[in-house]
Amino acid sequence: MSGKYDFDVLYIGAGHATFDGAAPLAATGISVGVIESGLIGGTCPNRGCNAKITIDEPVKMTREAERMGDILQGDLAINWSKNIEHKQDIIDNLPQDLTNRLESNGAKIIKGYAEFIDNHTLSVDGRKVTAEKIVIATGLRPHRLDIPGTELAHDSEDFLNLKHLPSKITVIGSGYIGMEFATIANAAGAEVTVMLHSDKILRNFYQPYVQKVVTDLKERGVEFIENAQVKSFEKDNDSYRINYGKDQSLETDWILDATGRIPNLDNLGLDKVGIKFDKTGIFVNDYLQTNVDNIYAAGDVVSNDQPKVTPAAYFESKYLMKLFSGQTTEPIDFPVIPSVVFTSPRIAKAGVSVEEGKQKGFDVSTNDLANYWYYRVDKEPIAESKQIHDKEGHLVGVTEISDQAQDAVNSLLPAIEFKMDREQVSRLVGLFPTIGYAAWHRA
Ligand SMILES: Cc1cc2nc3c(=O)[nH]c(=O)nc-3n(C[C@H](O)[C@H](O)[C@H](O)COP(=O)(O)OP(=O)(O)OC[C@H]3O[C@@H](n4cnc5c(N)ncnc54)[C@H](O)[C@@H]3O)c2cc1C
Repeated sequence: MSGKYDFDVLYIGAGHATFDGAAPLAATGISVGVIESGLIGGTCPNRGCNAKITIDEPVKMTREAERMGDILQGDLAINWSKNIEHKQDIIDNLPQDLTNRLESNGAKIIKGYAEFIDNHTLSVDGRKVTAEKIVIATGLRPHRLDIPGTELAHDSEDFLNLKHLPSKITVIGSGYIGMEFATIANAAGAEVTVMLHSDKILRNFYQPYVQKVVTDLKERGVEFIENAQVKSFEKDNDSYRINYGKDQSLETDWILDATGRIPNLDNLGLDKVGIKFDKTGIFVNDYLQTNVDNIYAAGDVVSNDQPKVTPAAYFESKYLMKLFSGQTTEPIDFPVIPSVVFTSPRIAKAGVSVEEGKQKGFDVSTNDLANYWYYRVDKEPIAESKQIHDKEGHLVGVTEISDQAQDAVNSLLPAIEFKMDREQVSRLVGLFPTIGYAAWHRA
């Protein structure tokens, strides 16, 4: 109990936007409560990043084995059910681990669905809980198409829990979740079709690299239907029919609606306290503060320009911990937040994009990595990077397509974040031979 309220700080949601900061905040002696209606850990550990990267691992390995086919002999196939069992084994303990992390630091977990009564009071399944400050960290949930038969489609969580892989899978949407799951399903042996609303795939990534991924997937049998105006889903005996365009239809065994993610704001009672938001999320100022002084928001549910990924949620959570514990009074100063799509190969990026670099007259250089000996060890056919240096010679951006793009981009983050010039970068000599060395060497 803290003064006139039950808690100093009360978080709604227990995802990365909460637990990364709430645990260390509680450790400072500030009284912290965390309300969660589902699994502790939220999306990323339970039905996002951790689960996805586990089922992708055999995909990555079969790609490697395929390239080494003349050296590593014998056929490899993914056992889907075992893959899903392995994923479950990896994620099963995460909610308990995160509960322990929060509780051992002194935070109190309150299970239930929160709704505002006033700006200091929440109702959690009917129980009143009060706090000096409240943080809304309720994340996003899958968008569902508003068409007849929408209930016949499934979402990303259903895909991650599929015990048996359907023979024909149709993915509606070509954002990062749609493309990653299309890659995984295709590699595991399903017949995959991706239907896209426009002709743009992975619109936030460098399009020539996206085209390389798409061409590779097409060669592997994935079909892409552009400008498909999906109209309805129907059940047709044991399969499903997707009606689209002008009287066109497609038969499939399983439909993944991957048409985006929307903020979890329903039934939160935001109107009762007058918090401003729109369909992109909650509006906040540079202190992650909403228009109601004692109420903040963090993570995916915030309407801002940051990518809706774990590194952004993590940084915002840590920032609020520093703000609430008096370690900072400054506005949030976002570092470079990288992003990646875990297709095979991956596309990863950080900082200034190729397009923006060109517009600003920066130096955009191309590295043909497929012909660089370190990438040739792995026989990677699709590997290239673009590095962007500003007019003073600082590395300000990178984008890479390769199987190891995420690690290459990670290793360049310090140079981008701290605006190192070429001389400073030349003082960084990584272990040899590693992907980090290869990346630094070109910066
Ligand atoms: C399939 C998939 C793959 C992804 N892969 C990656 C990846 O590879 N890398 C990456 O960086 N990001 C990835 N992401 C995104 C990442 O998961 C999110 O950016 C991150 O989880 C955001 O954290 P958050 O705390 O803001 O929200 P969440 O983790 O969604 O947490 C919000 C929590 O709030 C709870 N909640 C909502 N409303 C209420 C309420 N009224 N009362 C009580 N509790 C409530 C929810 O139950 C949920 O647990 C992926 C997401 C998905 C879906």
